[in-house]
Amino acid sequence: MSEKGAIRHKLTETIAEYMLKVKEGGGSINGMLRTGYVCDPRYRNHEVPPGHPERPERIGALLALMERYSRDELVKIEPRAAAIEEISANHDRRYIDQVRATADKPHIAFDPDTHAYSESYETALLSAGGFLSLIEHIMAGKVDNGFAMVRPPGHHAEADRAMGFCFFNNVAIGARYLRSRYELDRILIVDWDVHHGNGTQRSFYADKSVLYVSLHQYPHYPGTGDVGDVGVADGMGFTVNIPFPGGCGDDEYAAAFRRIVEPISRRFVPQFVLVSAGFDAHRRDPLSQMRLTREGFEAMTRSLVAVARDHYALEESVAGVLDELGGNDLGVELPHGGGAETVLDAVARVHKRFWKL
Ligand SMILES: [Zn+2]
Repeated sequence: MSEKGAIRHKLTETIAEYMLKVKEGGGSINGMLRTGYVCDPRYRNHEVPPGHPERPERIGALLALMERYSRDELVKIEPRAAAIEEISANHDRRYIDQVRATADKPHIAFDPDTHAYSESYETALLSAGGFLSLIEHIMAGKVDNGFAMVRPPGHHAEADRAMGFCFFNNVAIGARYLRSRYELDRILIVDWDVHHGNGTQRSFYADKSVLYVSLHQYPHYPGTGDVGDVGVADGMGFTVNIPFPGGCGDDEYAAAFRRIVEPISRRFVPQFVLVSAGFDAHRRDPLSQMRLTREGFEAMTRSLVAVARDHYALEESVAGVLDELGGNDLGVELPHGGGAETVLDAVARVHKRFWKL
């Protein structure tokens, strides 16, 4: 377990897309859930300029972690490259061609943060595709949930624009895939990366089938994610921004989950939960002023696992009671909030007209 803590300190930008399928029976009920993960040495092939915070070494650290880390029911899943059709469900063809044109070129900068080298395009396809592989395994019932340790990251990428280290929006492509291939109607995306996921928000801003909930430092890069940004048209109320001031930590995030994320998510009744799980709100991450610890990330994960499993049936409830009776603490009780109450009051005020809060 200490390795897991150690690795989080090394992470500085979104690389993880964590997913939890709502259980519809199957899988182990009394034992641990089967977790699939994608982690492949080819994710190192996307190079960056010297000193760039989103480095190939992060994958090396995760590969080393996964050599050491063991848990029952952990399944390694081979990533595949995403097809152009799958990418184009979320990105303009012309933009995809622009990224494709960087293949085998020595270096092309999209903005001061976002650089493509000769293998970046191919790696970006493998990044989105790794996420899709995981979704396929979950939907086929081979695993219950999963963790994609992929790069380049995705949540800043817009339909027609690379930015903030991101080329293709992995989580948005995943949500589109769940909509089209599996015909799901309600997908929850929780984005706890310290930066606002402007690309993801834009993709589903008018779409009520995808509920986007972001907790982020504000104001901070990329400048979006105001509390008043709630979606438009059919999507009104299906974008929820929790813009925290710098300095927030476990207590504030726990309060946000208790007051906003959990109640809204439960009323939405998601069929699939996707997480943009950047670890840059960690207190030792230099890219932000947030103070989350390993326990904070664990509490958020526990809360979302509970949301994902929430409405499935009696057998699970009985199993939960049996677990508790056996002293197996799976509780989702979260500690009380600190100085971010005013932000949460504002979020609750804004979203009260959409959700019972
Ligand atoms: Zn970030």
